[in-house]
Amino acid sequence: MAPGFDVIVVGSGFGGAVTACRLAQAGASVLVLERGRRWTKDQYPRGPGDAWLYQPGHPHRYNGWLDLRFARGMTVAQGAGVGGGSLCYSSVVMKADPALFEGGWPPEITYSELAPYYAKVHEMLAVREIPPGQHTHRYKLLQRAAERLGHTDRFDSVPLALSFDPEWSYELPDPLDTRHSRSFVNGQGQPQGTCVHLGNCDIGCDVQAKNTLDLNYIPAAEQHGAEVRPLHLVRCIQPDDSGYRVIFDRIEDGGLLRGEERAERVVVAAGSLGSTELLLRCRDQHRTLPRISGVLGRHWSANANFFTSGIYGPDTEVGQSIGPTIAAGLDFMDGSVNGQRFFVEDDGFPNLLLNALTAQLRSGRVSPFAWALQRHLRRGRDEKNPTRNVMVWLGEGVDAADGELSLGRRRLMPWKRKLRLTWDVRRSAPVIDAILSTHQRLTEATGGHLRVPLSWSVLRSLVTVHPLGGCRVGTGPEEAVVDHRGEVFGHRNLFVADGAIVPVAIGRNPSMTIGALAERTAALMTQGRGLSETEPL
Ligand SMILES: Cc1cc2nc3c(=O)[nH]c(=O)nc-3n(C[C@H](O)[C@H](O)[C@H](O)COP(=O)(O)OP(=O)(O)OC[C@H]3O[C@@H](n4cnc5c(N)ncnc54)[C@H](O)[C@@H]3O)c2cc1C
Ligand code: SF4
Repeated sequence: MAPGFDVIVVGSGFGGAVTACRLAQAGASVLVLERGRRWTKDQYPRGPGDAWLYQPGHPHRYNGWLDLRFARGMTVAQGAGVGGGSLCYSSVVMKADPALFEGGWPPEITYSELAPYYAKVHEMLAVREIPPGQHTHRYKLLQRAAERLGHTDRFDSVPLALSFDPEWSYELPDPLDTRHSRSFVNGQGQPQGTCVHLGNCDIGCDVQAKNTLDLNYIPAAEQHGAEVRPLHLVRCIQPDDSGYRVIFDRIEDGGLLRGEERAERVVVAAGSLGSTELLLRCRDQHRTLPRISGVLGRHWSANANFFTSGIYGPDTEVGQSIGPTIAAGLDFMDGSVNGQRFFVEDDGFPNLLLNALTAQLRSGRVSPFAWALQRHLRRGRDEKNPTRNVMVWLGEGVDAADGELSLGRRRLMPWKRKLRLTWDVRRSAPVIDAILSTHQRLTEATGGHLRVPLSWSVLRSLVTVHPLGGCRVGTGPEEAVVDHRGEVFGHRNLFVADGAIVPVAIGRNPSMTIGALAERTAALMTQGRGLSETEPL
């Protein structure tokens, strides 16, 4: 039977959206299967009863915004939906440090090799920095801390995939009112608005100022004929004579409906945990892809994410929930603190109470008390916000990348197998300690005191939003799962293109590097460059 599509792409985040777009532009027939919803701005979660969580065990009931996984010593947060992690991310799109490519990568992947692909991602995501007149209080606090500690040369604005109006300023009357957002149509014909500093980046931007993948790469793919099917959870990939059968569950009417499609090639882009789990199940449970390397699941990294809070007195403006979630950073990738390489950013969080009340008000379901509270919070966003004096410091660094993903048996249902993450912090503790001591110095230099989460000080447990690895790229199956093109060793025409292939911790925010690697995989698939075994499309 002839395959239905040239390519099926599993997942629609940084790896999936980029490959789907470029392969469709090259003339391939492309199907994208995405387990999450296709969100529109009026559906973003706001109130307590909204679809906040995606539960992989019950996707027909809980197919919400964020997929949280809890393991001993580690919690992992990932996005779910058309656009993947771009929906909930803080829009920081940075290149990796060039020195990072000196070890751990196959010789074909170097910083200069990736440069043109970084440029493509930069262009598609319309990357820019926050305009000088729009610096947030958090930005200025980090800048002040850097100056006082003699780190001015390490401080900079971070590149953001956000749309700004240079005319917008905090001096406008009611500056955070959405009426100040300027509407425009982006390069892919999608309506967007400019940023009015609502601080909701991680829960979906009310004015579409985030240049998320569902507003650029995905529509570009669709304009070239790609079909995107949300709420399609891929369960198994099975080779057949002319390619692969991809078996999925369609989430519909509160239930799961089994279906399948066929393609000559498959690109697995379900993220670090998603791609690794799918391939583990195909190798060890369904036994459809038996030749995948024994390295599958190993070398997993949390990118040394570490969050602390700086608590400040009433005289220090922090504006925790105002403005782009992250706008500035301090670079310690040179190893000057105890030989550890890391990056520090100002991290905001959305004002969930204000958002919930505003959503209620819009729906007309609101009590006089809730109405008054909403007015109060809105008016006092700058002065009375209870979180206004809390600065969340985010550190991200080069950890040991020695975690392991595997399939374990459920205790109560031993016939069912569950993704398991084994993480031992010991080899990564030095970089976490270096980040912590830097957070401490930054906070003290600006008159605050640092609060370290009990999850770390008592339990030695971490939270990461940057999971990487599991399907490592390398030179052969004895040390890696995919080759430098992203093709799985032992299974022709099966590719992995997402954060799962990254072989080392990136240290900085990883999405730009994941996108650049996916651009390169798509270019090699379409141009035939370096394709010794696989025919170009
Ligand atoms: C709150 C938060 C803030 C962040 N901020 C930043 C930031 O500012 N900068 C940055 O660089 N990074 C940030 N990140 C990390 C960033 O989102 C990820 O590094 C990036 O999205 C990873 O890209 P990916 O292609 O590997 O996977 P993803 O973007 O996660 O895409 C994988 C997709 O596959 C889908 N999927 C999974 N399994 C299946 C399956 N079996 N079938 C079908 N579909 C499936 C998922 O739903 C998802 O849409 C943040 C993450 C979070 C959670
Ligand atoms: S700060 Fe607000 S307006 Fe700006 S991008 Fe984030 S959510 Fe959108």
